[in-house]
Amino acid sequence: MKQVILVTGSSRGIGAATALMASRRGYAVCINYLNDAQAADKLRAQIVAEGGEAIAVQADVSVEADVQRLFETVDEELGPLTALVNNVGVLEQQCRLTEMSVERLQRVFTTNVISYFLCSKEAVKRMSTASGGQGGGIVNLSSGAAKHGAPNVYIDYASSKGAIDVMTLGLSKEVAAEGIRVNCVRPGMIYTDIHASGGDPGRVARLESNVPMLRGGQPEEIAETILWLLSPQSSYVSGAIIDAAGAR
Ligand code: NAP
Repeated sequence: MKQVILVTGSSRGIGAATALMASRRGYAVCINYLNDAQAADKLRAQIVAEGGEAIAVQADVSVEADVQRLFETVDEELGPLTALVNNVGVLEQQCRLTEMSVERLQRVFTTNVISYFLCSKEAVKRMSTASGGQGGGIVNLSSGAAKHGAPNVYIDYASSKGAIDVMTLGLSKEVAAEGIRVNCVRPGMIYTDIHASGGDPGRVARLESNVPMLRGGQPEEIAETILWLLSPQSSYVSGAIIDAAGAR
């Protein structure tokens, strides 16, 4: 059966590493992005040049109409979806709770939580054996912040990731008898551009000596974990939350 994967927020970072690795493992890939069309198209071109199949689709996955258009494009251009990686995530400027505006809280929770619900809903409708689908896999990106709470920097982001842990547990049980496995990866500090969005581009290098392995992680190390959770090698694993954080 053709393997078709959608990775949300995959123009850079962990999403881009996952999309590229998935292609090299035989998936047809939908790259999704919000703003950076150039980066998404560069990745699409690389995959095609390597002999893979890929499309790049602009869509704000926190907006329901965009999500529906995104999934319909996958249906039409790649075929039935077999894997979804809910990867988008945003950080805002580091601050304490007393400085957080309601607009910021809405942005963080809409992007980091609502989008995972909207995309999973579309994926389940297509994959569920109860509605004629072939089954499939969903992997959610949480964060080590869900365990430590990120005090003084972004408790909003940490709380949004806590919601994803719980959503993984609930949805995995809801669809377990319908051929769909739902799992979650909780990365620690990974070398990507997300830290610059929080106003702290050097965060991983500055803090990596606190990690028991004494280093930050690479996006490819998270991609490996995600792809294992989507593979037949993890066929009896669902509702799992895997820490990939250098023993933190
Ligand atoms: P990143 O480098 O900041 O990349 C974010 C990606 O999401 C970009 O491709 C961006 O697209 C896209 N995006 C943002 N909002 C979007 C929206 N509304 N609709 C569609 N795409 C959107 O992030 P990352 O560090 O790779 O993180 C990936 C995931 O891992 C996130 O969920 C993050 O919370 C989680 N995580 C990361 C770390 C870490 O240390 N890096 C640690 C723990 C957990 P454009 O470029 O087009 O704007």
